[in-house]
Amino acid sequence: MTNPAIAANGLRKAYGEKTVLDGIDFSIPAGTVFALLGPNGAGKTTAVKILSTLIPPGEGSGAISVGGHDLATDAQAVRAAIGVTGQFSAVDGLITGEENLLLMADLHHLSKAEGRRVTAELLERFDLTEAAKKPASTYSGGMKRRLDIAMTLVGNPRVIFLDEPTTGLDPRSRHGMWQMIRGLVGDGVTVFLTTQYLEEADELADRIAVLHNGKLVAEGSAEELKRIVPGGHVRLRFSDPAAYRDAAAHLGGDAVRDDAALALQLPSDGTQSILRSILDRLDAAGIEADELTVHTPDLDDVFFALTETDTDTDTKTDTEAESGTGTAARTHAAVPAQNKESVR
Ligand code: ADP
Repeated sequence: MTNPAIAANGLRKAYGEKTVLDGIDFSIPAGTVFALLGPNGAGKTTAVKILSTLIPPGEGSGAISVGGHDLATDAQAVRAAIGVTGQFSAVDGLITGEENLLLMADLHHLSKAEGRRVTAELLERFDLTEAAKKPASTYSGGMKRRLDIAMTLVGNPRVIFLDEPTTGLDPRSRHGMWQMIRGLVGDGVTVFLTTQYLEEADELADRIAVLHNGKLVAEGSAEELKRIVPGGHVRLRFSDPAAYRDAAAHLGGDAVRDDAALALQLPSDGTQSILRSILDRLDAAGIEADELTVHTPDLDDVFFALTETDTDTDTKTDTEAESGTGTAARTHAAVPAQNKESVR
């Protein structure tokens, strides 16, 4: 097996009393997209800043390697291997898009001819050729974001950190950005993406990790994550109140009743065997539902289940949080702890 493009063990960071990253692990294969998902303030940018050498890891962190280089002993080589696009753009608005790219080429010590070649190629690739000679301050949000990423590509990095690359973009620009990211991965680049958008992680990521209260509370492919949350159900609807009551009686305690809609909801992981067992029970009782729908949880369900904490959970002691004996054991927050192994 080849070495992961990014590997971190027990990554920690605290600001004063506040623990932001509480010992998290990453192992990201080369040529894949990894999405770090978390609500505002979860610590996503902090993780990106550490992995991209902008700030040092916290005390007690284990080994970190990026692009095959050890972060502690060879930060310079890490910097040479990566590109970072943060929420705060590196684009200089006073000069043109083309000049921004040529400047980056200079910083990377490319020859004049090579710098011009790379600049022209990137302008073309990012659909900026027409706007190349205009000051970057006149660009739309989407164009600035594209220029920003083009600038990080001048040095031909093999690992790219994209910190919330589509926050604030309109849907068209967002889709354009997704296309661009897929193109990068097609070229073998490893992408470490942070996002608050579940749809984005679902669209792009090979693996997704959910960061919450300083820990990775779940990790897996979008499909794997969707399977670990409750919320999947089968809904049966009836037009005949007598059939509805019969079905409720036969299906028993599992069924959640919606008397107004004459509908029953049964927990289900969406597998064929569960569906068959529900239908068999209805058949045996001679009951016919008018409508049957299967609801599979989406990433929204996952995200809310994993990051939803009540005030009790927030005030739990560390011991309780570690052992999972707090009130969260009853809440969704307990789900990932029980299931984490199964999605690895
Ligand atoms: P995210 O990117 O997930 O929104 P951040 O990594 O930016 O989260 O921030 C995580 C937490 O760390 C926040 O509570 C933030 O206020 C805090 N934080 C970030 N940088 C600093 C800093 N330089 N000093 C003190 N606290 C900070």
